Amino acid sequence: MHFAYSEHDIQARVAAATENAETLRVTGAGHSHSHLIPGADLLLDIGALSGVVSVDAAAKRAWVWGGTPIHVLGPALHRHGLALANQGDIDRQSIAGAVATGTHGTGVGLRNLSAGVAGLRLVCANGDICVASERQNDDVWRAARLGLGAFGVVSQVELQLKPSYRLREKATLVDHDEVIADLMQRTTEHRHLEFFWYPKTDQAMLKIIDETEEPAQYPIADEGNRVGYSFEVLPNHRPHKHTEMEYSVPADAALECFAEIRDLLRTSFTDVAWPVEFRTLAADDVWLSTAFERDTVTISVHQDIKEPDEPYYRACEAVFERYGGRPHWGKVHYLAGDKLRQIHPRWDDWWQARDRLDPTGTFLNPWLTGVRT
Ligand SMILES: Cc1cc2nc3c(=O)[nH]c(=O)nc-3n(C[C@H](O)[C@H](O)[C@H](O)COP(=O)(O)OP(=O)(O)OC[C@H]3O[C@@H](n4cnc5c(N)ncnc54)[C@H](O)[C@@H]3O)c2cc1C
Repeated sequence: MHFAYSEHDIQARVAAATENAETLRVTGAGHSHSHLIPGADLLLDIGALSGVVSVDAAAKRAWVWGGTPIHVLGPALHRHGLALANQGDIDRQSIAGAVATGTHGTGVGLRNLSAGVAGLRLVCANGDICVASERQNDDVWRAARLGLGAFGVVSQVELQLKPSYRLREKATLVDHDEVIADLMQRTTEHRHLEFFWYPKTDQAMLKIIDETEEPAQYPIADEGNRVGYSFEVLPNHRPHKHTEMEYSVPADAALECFAEIRDLLRTSFTDVAWPVEFRTLAADDVWLSTAFERDTVTISVHQDIKEPDEPYYRACEAVFERYGGRPHWGKVHYLAGDKLRQIHPRWDDWWQARDRLDPTGTFLNPWLTGVRT
């Protein structure tokens, strides 16, 4: 593992790798379940490059270092009166790592983190800097917002933000039938709505979060009953080690798909105790986004890290595939080649944009080469 302390150092390391025909992968916090990182000749950690670089208050945009952990980013942006529009379930990821896989939270009107990227500063295979946005190198920007670390090292990210805001969270345990009744209607009535369904009890933890004018209540309460700034309420503590498969399905087919997954657990995988998570995600225009041009529901299945998961995940995947599901890039899936091409309309464009920037394949690893074929 190499640690970079400056953009100049990243440039020199990447240029040397390409010169020596070596492959290089950059790691964030290492929270992805898929094999995005291993197998390259060199591994680069840019965690030392952390914090806010500059802020455009009028445009509500900020350039931040790619290595910034999201839990550091929240308070740092708040000092400028700004915040991410949404966050995922945890905040331990680096911003570049989270963006690279389309990390998302929940909310029908809220897009994933990649869709909130206004610009990227990339160290390319030859060591040069490429700045990509809607205004310059726009094909790189369209593709590399969800770049899987395959376009280059993202040294900085420009984020579209919103003014700091506070949220009130309320979680309740309800029966399955109750959570399903009027569910899709209810998702439109709240900023964030999600639930975890527990197969052993057939109950669901329903979590609803809305903006509030109430002051933050310190100390911030435990998950389920918090009032505070967005970065204090949205992330959770998830200490139990697990694997995860998540598919994005069209929102209008989500209830039917969820019902099939529930049936699968109740008939064929009765030993699985880990919950199934149901979240919503707004459509976007990021080429490999799981919500590309369609309103989406994400359904996640989990298994304990010590338990076998493949038979369960393969059975779930067969259901998700029937609904045109698209797998989360940072989680377990078994798709490759034509199957990915069928569900991602810009699959070939993404690879062409990538190959133009990295013709010798410096930023590829065996997993990426495998999903391509
Ligand atoms: C407990 C847990 C909870 C999670 N919750 C959610 C959730 O709520 N929503 C969701 O969508 N996902 C979730 N995930 C998945 C997670 O957000 C993604 O896998 C994310 O990519 C991890 O970020 P990371 O910083 O750990 O990146 P890594 O896993 O280290 O890397 C991910 C990808 O980013 C690339 N990358 C990292 N840094 C750079 C850089 N500087 N330049 C270019 N490429 C880079 C890597 O090469 C790799 O391809 C969760 C994962 C776990 C383990």
